[in-house]
Amino acid sequence: MKEIILIKNGELTLKGLNRCNFEDILIKNIRRRLRDLGEINVRKAQSTIYIEPKDDTFDFEEALERVKLIFGIAAFSRACVCEKTMEDIIAKSPIYLENDLKNVKTFKVEAKRADKQFPLTSPEICREIGGVLLSAYPHLRVDVHKPDIIIYVEIRDYNAYVRGEQIQGAGGLPVGTAGNASILISGGIDSPVAAWCMAKRGLRLNAIHFASPPYTSPRAEQKVRTLLSRVARYSGAINLAIVPFTQIQDEIANNCPEEYFTLIMRRMMMRISERIAREKDSLALITGESLGQVASQTLPALVTTDYVCNMPVLRPLIGMDKEEIVEISRKIDTFETSILPYEDCCTVFTPKHPKTRPTLSECEKAEANLQIDALIEKAISETAYSYVD
Ligand code: ATP
Ligand code: MG
Repeated sequence: MKEIILIKNGELTLKGLNRCNFEDILIKNIRRRLRDLGEINVRKAQSTIYIEPKDDTFDFEEALERVKLIFGIAAFSRACVCEKTMEDIIAKSPIYLENDLKNVKTFKVEAKRADKQFPLTSPEICREIGGVLLSAYPHLRVDVHKPDIIIYVEIRDYNAYVRGEQIQGAGGLPVGTAGNASILISGGIDSPVAAWCMAKRGLRLNAIHFASPPYTSPRAEQKVRTLLSRVARYSGAINLAIVPFTQIQDEIANNCPEEYFTLIMRRMMMRISERIAREKDSLALITGESLGQVASQTLPALVTTDYVCNMPVLRPLIGMDKEEIVEISRKIDTFETSILPYEDCCTVFTPKHPKTRPTLSECEKAEANLQIDALIEKAISETAYSYVD
């Protein structure tokens, strides 16, 4: 029996004149994400997107799992393709709906007739198919007010479709509709969640990671790749820049007062990230910072790090508690990787008494002995790029 996926566009319905553009980007994203599963046709008609496998070598179950994670899809359903005749709908419905119907007690049928040429009216279709299902599954009863399940029969342009309830999608906006931004990704819990939050609002992601070998191990870098590949199931492929940070950290350790280490390190990260982001056409940076979580995330500390950066810094977790962040990280399946114990460059040089109320002039004074521009140029020239998906 031929099956397809039908997609409803959620928030996209709100987008007025932009809607077409949004749908086209969503369709492109769907094609890209299902590309290796077999040949498909993806098209839109009457505010529904159709994913139609061209033959039965297409991996339909895997496609459903992937569609669940694509942003811009509020809800979708699997549906059985029928010819536009009552005979075919009657023949296929009971068999196709077996899994939906065998474990429920009550149902109702709803019919939608986009093709008004179809000989039966919607109430007639409902009555007829309802009767067919009742005789195929004698344990069932019809309940039009509070049914356990609603069965839909839709008579559309080329075919009729029979389906059970919708499956909830990932919501949000299609990745790419909001432009590009660069996530500063560590191996921790927060930054992968921040990346996911902003991809959900339609941003295509680039990623920047600062690595400090030999203080940090290759396993820490692998951990970042694993985290990004989890996020990429939602956001699509991510371009990752790995910036060598060892020399900068050594210079900071040798030339700056200890209580400013973290702040100066973060200012260096922001300066370098902005340069890399611009090269990759990103319009903003994203971090996993949450107000007050650690000394470098107090408001005065954030002010001193923002000061060196002329790009907007998006901080989607700024008002969240750790528990809320952990809940998302479990949901998107990054938590177990994030808590693996490999050293991050920030944990290597943590001052015993970090400054929590730094002023800008104190920071500038504390980093006065650094060759800032030369260090930035060197780090950027040694940055390595790769794709994660
Ligand atoms: P996370 O859980 O994301 O590591 P955190 O609570 O440990 O966050 P910090 O270590 O202070 O906080 O880092 C704050 C933010 O700075 C991170 O969320 C991330 O966006 C960025 N960041 C920290 N370390 C790195 C790194 N090595 N490479 C790139 N970005 C980093
Ligand atoms: Mg961290």
